[in-house]
Amino acid sequence: MAVELDDLGKTYDGGAGTVTALGGVTTSFGDGTFTAVMGPSGSGKSTLLHCAAGLETPTTGQVTIAGTRLRDLGETALTRLRRDRIGFVFQEFNLVSSLTAAQNVALPVRLAGRKADGSAVRSALAAVGLADRAGHRPRELSGGQQQRVAIARALFTRPAVLFADEPTGALDSRSSQQVMTLLRELVDGHGRTVVMVTHDPVAAAVADRVVLLVDGRIADELTGADAASVADRMTVLERSC
Ligand code: ADP
Repeated sequence: MAVELDDLGKTYDGGAGTVTALGGVTTSFGDGTFTAVMGPSGSGKSTLLHCAAGLETPTTGQVTIAGTRLRDLGETALTRLRRDRIGFVFQEFNLVSSLTAAQNVALPVRLAGRKADGSAVRSALAAVGLADRAGHRPRELSGGQQQRVAIARALFTRPAVLFADEPTGALDSRSSQQVMTLLRELVDGHGRTVVMVTHDPVAAAVADRVVLLVDGRIADELTGADAASVADRMTVLERSC
């Protein structure tokens, strides 16, 4: 199992009192599966993704990535696991503007003090359809191409799972379509595991499973749903909030 979440809870203490962002989420994401996480704004989607990726510490419950419980790891081991076993892509790509696509892909490995093999970088870019863009800087690439570089970078260490936080949120519909097609191919053709937060029913329908969060809990799940049924279910859930 790539990711297991066991009764995951997260509360934040603020001036206005305690906010429960996650109220006990238990689910798992199998190897080679593609899951979309949806829900109204404030339902806990980002918190879920950040806790699952070891970027935030849950208040209760636990996260297991490829058999390793994050709770059992010290800071150094957690940093290493995050670097090698977890890929993360963001809405805004987060590429370094002064570096080429190839240098961006190699950067995390180089920052870890290792050498990034040139042919491995080229094949990572080829896998996202950018073999001919290795020497381009982000500003010379479209938004969709930049996101594909970010995906190549996130997958470079062959992580157990790729988490994506609204990966198409900053893209037009054509680029969104290309990024979703790529993620689908990475799952189907390369056995990758993807867990993606999205607001877009069209993007969610590309996944195998849609997990719907409301008030920090799983309210429903859809399997093999088309965009219209995802949108209908979201509308019903948002009305009931
Ligand atoms: P979503 O991604 O579905 O919009 P979030 O996970 O961002 O939801 O937030 C869930 C709840 O937790 C919201 O009520 C939000 O205001 C609260 N929250 C998230 N992060 C913090 C934080 N750092 N401090 C305080 N409250 C937070």
